[in-house]
Amino acid sequence: MAKGGNSLREQESPVLKIDLLKVRNNAAKIVDKCKNAGISVLGVTKGFNALPEIVVAMVAGGIGALTDSRMENIMAMRKAGFKQPMTLLRIPRLSNVENVIAYANVSVNSELAVIQALSQAAKKQQKKHQILLMVDVGDLREGVMPSNVLSLVRQIIKLDSVELIGLGTNMGCFGGVLPDCHNLGLLVELGKLIEKEFTFRLNVISGGGTSTLKLVEDEAIPPGINQLRIGEGVLLGTDTTHGRAIPWLEQDAFRLFVEVIEVKAKPSVPIGNIGHDVFGQVPHFEDVGIRNRAIVAIGKQDVYIEGLMPVDRNIIVLGASSDHLILDITDVGHRIQVGDLIEFSLSYSGLLLACSSPYITKVFAGGNYYDSTD
Ligand SMILES: *Cc1c(COP(=O)(O)O)cnc(C)c1O
Repeated sequence: MAKGGNSLREQESPVLKIDLLKVRNNAAKIVDKCKNAGISVLGVTKGFNALPEIVVAMVAGGIGALTDSRMENIMAMRKAGFKQPMTLLRIPRLSNVENVIAYANVSVNSELAVIQALSQAAKKQQKKHQILLMVDVGDLREGVMPSNVLSLVRQIIKLDSVELIGLGTNMGCFGGVLPDCHNLGLLVELGKLIEKEFTFRLNVISGGGTSTLKLVEDEAIPPGINQLRIGEGVLLGTDTTHGRAIPWLEQDAFRLFVEVIEVKAKPSVPIGNIGHDVFGQVPHFEDVGIRNRAIVAIGKQDVYIEGLMPVDRNIIVLGASSDHLILDITDVGHRIQVGDLIEFSLSYSGLLLACSSPYITKVFAGGNYYDSTD
């Protein structure tokens, strides 16, 4: 993995340039804003494959607890020396409960069979494992339906080696449902109901991810929500579910630079009979005359191409195959030559795949926070 400081030119492109100071600043601003609302922040590391340099930048920004949907990432962070509390953000696989107990402190859950298996595994390892019970308040991804919460809690509290620490919900992922005072209010109410019925306290009411930040900003978050799990906001300063750039955060911590390998003027409609392209689609073209095109050395094998946006708004993405991304550069104000680097911003899914792609060189800028791991 490449280290910071060198010019991008010296690196093998495509280069993903990661400004750690911007990640740290975004983290600090989010932690601060949430703290004022009585909310603690879990740093979500799945969006960047838990690359340790970035985890350190998040921690340097004041994030005290980490969370990832992949056990592999959590185990890698433990092996890299991170001592922070770790939450597994996807329901554990029954086949993998031993690892969950060994490496994570908390896991999100909705299935009694899994929670029972976690309890058994925890007992064997002489540990107590914490359970965040996921409730489905409308997005229809994971979670118990509200009417089944009390009966499931009654089963969970019979188990020796797991401790129910609270309720959580997820929003804006499958159903695109936005968090609001009704669905998050329901989560808070269910928490109170449990406390009344079973006379114990729930420490955590976890109200979603980046899409819930809007409610914090608008001071409209229902009282009682005391945790958010934030990835996208820290990394990209965007909130995809609301379709916005978050105005008080920085959007350019991650930039991808890709080298131009061909520049030519060509017609805008291919010449000859048109069959299926390599991905089985029949392409359609509009005739807008002769255009200047550039090919950059990246393709569907390297990244999620739809997740790349040229920073220069005058560049039009025409399409991609496995190894080539084709751009219309006619309207760019300056001359683009073979060997130039074209700069792209990334969507959250674009970032995820760029970080895990073995074909992309990672370069860190903005300071080295590696010393402040603990
Ligand atoms: C990915 C994920 C998050 C984080 O969402 P962001 O939009 O990145 O903030 C939170 N909770 C769950 C359950 C997730 O899977």
